[in-house]
Amino acid sequence: MAEAPKIEIYDARTGKLEKVDAVVRSDAEWKKLLTLEQYQVMRKKGTERAFSKVCAVPKSGKGIYQCAGCGTDLFAYGSKFESGTGWPSFWDPVSPSNLKLKKDFGFGISRVEVLCARCESHLGHVFNDGPAPTGQRYCINTVALKLSEG
Ligand SMILES: [Zn+2]
Repeated sequence: MAEAPKIEIYDARTGKLEKVDAVVRSDAEWKKLLTLEQYQVMRKKGTERAFSKVCAVPKSGKGIYQCAGCGTDLFAYGSKFESGTGWPSFWDPVSPSNLKLKKDFGFGISRVEVLCARCESHLGHVFNDGPAPTGQRYCINTVALKLSEG
């Protein structure tokens, strides 16, 4: 097996960039690891139906949403906002290092796709109509996130 490349990922607990192995899995491995819905969104760039899922909220009021595919820290609960779109929305990631942004011209629309930097799973899209202070709206599929409380 080829060695996975080392990448820098921000760890929200330590507050530091850590050198970690990129997560590289075969299609068969992803199928086993993810639910069918997660697989379709995260590996086939699908989109869950708006308002079809309830995004977990931390009881303590503090938490980090991590990639459901590899556990990378993605968004703090503190940067979540109600966009009214039917998908969890955030105005900032925990670190730009943890996301990979890619131009997407699917469906004849020019958008920016958001991927997990560590396992390259599709998470959603980012738009320029978010709230202050960043003006960004990261529109993310609920099934691509898992909440880590505390
Ligand atoms: Zn990931």
